[in-house]
Amino acid sequence: MSFDPETGEFDFPGWDTDQVLQDLGEFIPEKNILHLPSQLKPYECDGLTTHRKMSRLVVLPETIRQCQEIMRYCRQHEIPVIARGAGTGITGGVLPDDLSIVVSLTKFNRIEKIDPLQRIAVVQPGVRNLAISEAAKPFGLQYAPDPSSQIACSIGGNVAENSGGVHCLKYGLTVNNVTGIKIIDSEGELIEIGGGNCMESPGFDLLALMHGSEGLLGIIVEITLKLIPVPPATQVVLAVFHSMVDGGKSVSDIISSGIIPAGLEMMDKVTIDAVESYMQAGYPKADALLLCELDGNQVDIRLQMEIVQQILKDNNAFDIRTSQNDEERELYWTARKSAFPAVASIQPDFYLLDGTVPRKALPEVLKKIAVLSKQYGLQVANVFHAGDGNLHPIIMYNIEIDGDYEKAVQLGSEILQHCISKGGSFTGEHGVGAEKIDQMCIQFSALELLQFHRIKAQLDVSGILNPGKAVPVLHRCAELGAMHVHNGEMPHADLPRF
Ligand SMILES: Cc1cc2nc3c(=O)[nH]c(=O)nc-3n(C[C@H](O)[C@H](O)[C@H](O)COP(=O)(O)OP(=O)(O)OC[C@H]3O[C@@H](n4cnc5c(N)ncnc54)[C@H](O)[C@@H]3O)c2cc1C
Repeated sequence: MSFDPETGEFDFPGWDTDQVLQDLGEFIPEKNILHLPSQLKPYECDGLTTHRKMSRLVVLPETIRQCQEIMRYCRQHEIPVIARGAGTGITGGVLPDDLSIVVSLTKFNRIEKIDPLQRIAVVQPGVRNLAISEAAKPFGLQYAPDPSSQIACSIGGNVAENSGGVHCLKYGLTVNNVTGIKIIDSEGELIEIGGGNCMESPGFDLLALMHGSEGLLGIIVEITLKLIPVPPATQVVLAVFHSMVDGGKSVSDIISSGIIPAGLEMMDKVTIDAVESYMQAGYPKADALLLCELDGNQVDIRLQMEIVQQILKDNNAFDIRTSQNDEERELYWTARKSAFPAVASIQPDFYLLDGTVPRKALPEVLKKIAVLSKQYGLQVANVFHAGDGNLHPIIMYNIEIDGDYEKAVQLGSEILQHCISKGGSFTGEHGVGAEKIDQMCIQFSALELLQFHRIKAQLDVSGILNPGKAVPVLHRCAELGAMHVHNGEMPHADLPRF
């Protein structure tokens, strides 16, 4: 095998399926090793369904010991390993290939402990995000980060992607809500990172490093999470506008008033109409819709609500409604969280983007998206975590039309490059995976990418952890640099060619 820790270049030798099946059978029960095409089919992609490949083997360990043995075996036989949670990722982070073994963590689905005194939960990586808040509810507690996929996605996947959600504006991303994890590195060693109850710990912050590591630095096998009290009261205000610019301005004004909402989300006309026909939440017809959630005690909410409503009126909101009970509040949010399936119900082929921009750039970026959408002749729906400046443009295309998919990808690339040019990033919360690897060459310098490879090589000495994802090999960027010229400049003309 050749693996160059400096550049990330790899070349694994390949393996014999029957031999590996037989070897793994020594320490993994037969029922937990999948190898028939019908068994492997569900693992050929994640939520990025345009990218599919059949794996040769999927292993479902049930114990940490089994995980360690798999890693040691793979290390010894130079077999790449792809950790997989629930497979709801949308960047192809778990996309298999012919050389790798997929390690599915779905059997690690126990909540080990809810400790109401310390306000923590200790959970296995395969536990669903929503199941944690459900288990904590009897203690008056909840786990704050709430990706829209929370009904299905695993907490291990949340850590590996550093996932966000509606509540993250106020309560922080996954990284701000995890106090410790246990991982297995590529040597099969079990490493405990963080876990204490202190605000600060000595040494490098490896816990932060593991957040967003996309299966490249280790397999996460246990997570200790912060729980927060369920707020005594919560209310959502829904406001609609004749323009996205007015909605965007309201977002900036709410944040600059000093209020930090527990959620601040926006959607455009295309999304509002799609959601309404999908689940009849009672959203009014409009060009922009804003949902703003306030939580805390009743007095605080009442005071903040007055300020928010005034801001909305000042920005020409023409219909303002406040949720009158929990059912109504949940209906508003469920509708928002159904935006992706709702769009899929009107146009099954779509390309979902995940860019971030500074909040103040939102109106300008939305205008640019509208211009590009017209130029490419492809409809774009917009739904976003407005408070975080995290956009999710959904580009609709028709796979049956020749060249439509390629056009969608090109349009997506232009939108994301525009986000970068406005001081933002091409990924907000969905990660890089296989899909956005080329954009890494645009966002980062050659030196920064080299440092990423060096860091990976420390925890993944043999380079077997999810190779080819998230951090591009430098050779790839060099080729792109030669192929694409941006603003008259080659982005990475300085990169070495190997
Ligand atoms: C409808 C829909 C809505 C979504 N909404 C949001 C949202 O609001 N916010 C958001 O952030 N994301 C969202 N996502 C994206 C996705 O749900 C998240 O990225 C989620 O965290 C992925 O979790 P998973 O268990 O499905 O991980 P997978 O898809 O199985 O894996 C994702 C990545 O994590 C790695 N990984 C998984 N488990 C482990 C482990 N135990 N150890 C090491 N690496 C591991 C994989 O190798 C892969 O690189 C959405 C997706 C869908 C389909």
